[in-house]
Amino acid sequence: MDADQLRQYLEFYQDLGIKTLYRRSSPEAAIPAPQNPTPDTPAPNPQLPAPESLLQILNDIGDCHRCRLCEQRSKIVFGVGNEHAPLVFVGEGPGADEDAQGIPFVGRAGQLLTQMIENTARKEGIDLKREDVYICNVVKCRPPGNRTPEPDEMETCGQFLYRQLMAIRPKALCALGGTAARALTGHKEGVTKMRGRWFKWRDIPVMITYHPSYLLRPYNQNAKREAWEDLKKILHFVYD
Ligand code: URA
Repeated sequence: MDADQLRQYLEFYQDLGIKTLYRRSSPEAAIPAPQNPTPDTPAPNPQLPAPESLLQILNDIGDCHRCRLCEQRSKIVFGVGNEHAPLVFVGEGPGADEDAQGIPFVGRAGQLLTQMIENTARKEGIDLKREDVYICNVVKCRPPGNRTPEPDEMETCGQFLYRQLMAIRPKALCALGGTAARALTGHKEGVTKMRGRWFKWRDIPVMITYHPSYLLRPYNQNAKREAWEDLKKILHFVYD
């Protein structure tokens, strides 16, 4: 892919993608997927560029200076896992450990996320390891002091999340915490209200649950139990 083609991708997704990334969706309301005339002869849509790979998206991010989050970051945290995963977890943004290593969810919250995925799967009889899913964040650079990303930072970085999800086309998404939930669904309610319910990102079902950092707080035992319930739901939906 040459520089011109990459620029066309970027313009296309900037024009189309960002608006749809934040498009509001209603719970359980399907956004219909485009229908092909016959199932075995897919009709190329001249308006859509050919699907791109995660590597192409990563190349396009380059040494990103598109927003102020570049100023204090050590490493860009793009995403990790299986490029063909049927399940993608989306968090808020890298913390200190992730910024140092360039890998999402490797700190305490990340270890809890790994345990939640693998232990729930094992208990439910599903053969699943962390590396079988894909994990990424709404913003790819650490917000200073772990503050919540600003709307303009989410908007600028959102094109890359959009393109990652379009490239992977998973069967389902899991939004971890309020920032990811708002970015994917456009809904503004708190996680406590939205968790455990199915929403849609384009035509892909999204389950919202608590962020693992929230579950690490000692007084959130009830939330922990609810998060395990949410995870069971999503794992059975994807892997049964
Ligand atoms: N919290 C997040 O939202 N993402 C990470 O990668 C780590 C902590």
